[in-house]
Amino acid sequence: MEDSVNIKKNEEFVLRIKDMGAAEEGIGKYEGMTFFVKDALIGDLVRARVTKLKRTYGYARLMEILEPSPDRVDPPCAFHRQCGGCQLQALSYEKQLEFKQKKVENNLRRIGGFEQVPMEAIVGMEQPCRYRNKAQYPVGTDADGNIVAGFYAGRTHQIIPNRDCVLGLPVNRHVLDAVIEFMERNHISAYDEKTGRGLIRHVLIRCGFATKEIMVCLILNGRKLPRQEELVAELKKIEGMTSVSLNFNEKQTNVILGEETETIWGQGYITDDVRLPDGRKTLAYRISPQSFYQVNPVQMEKLYGLALDYAGLSGAETVWDLYCGIGTISLFLAQKAKQVYGVEIVPQAIEDARQNARLNGIENAEFFVGKAEEILPEFYEKEARAGRKAHADVIVVDPPRKGCDRRLLDTILAMAPDRIVYVSCDSATLARDLKVLCAGEYRLARVRVVDNFCQTVHCEVCSCLERGN
Ligand code: SAH
Repeated sequence: MEDSVNIKKNEEFVLRIKDMGAAEEGIGKYEGMTFFVKDALIGDLVRARVTKLKRTYGYARLMEILEPSPDRVDPPCAFHRQCGGCQLQALSYEKQLEFKQKKVENNLRRIGGFEQVPMEAIVGMEQPCRYRNKAQYPVGTDADGNIVAGFYAGRTHQIIPNRDCVLGLPVNRHVLDAVIEFMERNHISAYDEKTGRGLIRHVLIRCGFATKEIMVCLILNGRKLPRQEELVAELKKIEGMTSVSLNFNEKQTNVILGEETETIWGQGYITDDVRLPDGRKTLAYRISPQSFYQVNPVQMEKLYGLALDYAGLSGAETVWDLYCGIGTISLFLAQKAKQVYGVEIVPQAIEDARQNARLNGIENAEFFVGKAEEILPEFYEKEARAGRKAHADVIVVDPPRKGCDRRLLDTILAMAPDRIVYVSCDSATLARDLKVLCAGEYRLARVRVVDNFCQTVHCEVCSCLERGN
């Protein structure tokens, strides 16, 4: 089909970048064809060379920026082009926000079929750097045999050495220095993905922003860390160190964490406080290495505040919080509702959720381990067999990127809550799922984007569906 356009592989052409893709490339049109150009930003006029052609789109390599976008800024990180983690770092923060809001709106229109999107203004961050409370550094060996920790280059698995990511906290560097010095001193090897040999795979660091508690978890390709007490002695010197653990992962996969974790010093978890805007109550949460916890605590508080507002609770409601993690949203809901039920697939997270309810003296929240798409339908059917209709006034869902299973959406529709609050980190699957829900009796009442992942193309979306037209 290459002859359908006037351009061939390896040819160069000039185009203006108008958008950014889900896979983080700049997007522009040339002779009716859509081209994806890595490292090009919205607003750039570039010279590019065709690397791959399909029928209606193609890929091209950035050769030269002929006219930089007026919204380009000096990126705070020297590695940002190689690393690929912060696709938008060279774009002004204002434009980043504009881009994200537009992207969500477009997905809701295009995939969701919503003509009118009741979009509220995006919630940005005042200081959009050093916001991550969690870092997972891969450890490896460079060509000269030195142990390195850093980030994977682009979509490869080559490690770019960098112990101080600008999205993370400065303490990460101290932790990595201690781990690498310990490895060098004791001749402990780094894992090699190609051969499957070597011991240390990743260093996971988590920090409670409010409590300043730090957790370090080393992911091992093996069961034992020689001279671990020496490492613990070094890590303990870092202020705030609360938990040191080992996680065992001997599988040759890209999944970072294995199933088993052993605490070798301190507690098996850290605690963090979450305070909602408007001076609403602060809750304390305990977080285990395997549990999901929002990576941007500043924006997380804004997101949860919004979800709580959208839920519109008066105190009399029965609420389900599906994909509840450690019960973060559930426990805030519980303070304003009669009863909350949380469902989550990771058993450690549910253990955390139950502890968190106790820790905060909350007695009207109950948690279940399992898949949301199994637990809720099974509950619904059990009630039906007993001649009852499973009831919820409000259902909150906060699924991972792949969105909700159809079986779950059908059960939600059958339960017919007054409101559905859908929190999403992927607006394409959100749009797909909202279309299903709005084909029923629901209408999209409110939508707001929260920028929890500044400098990257990702964001969170909070939306509210109301029953009745
Ligand atoms: N609401 C929580 C967690 C959201 S992240 C918070 O804000 O902290 C999504 C969560 O869904 C993760 O904890 C993940 O472990 C869980 N999960 C993934 N697939 C699931 C499924 N099929 N059923 C239930 N939970 C699932």
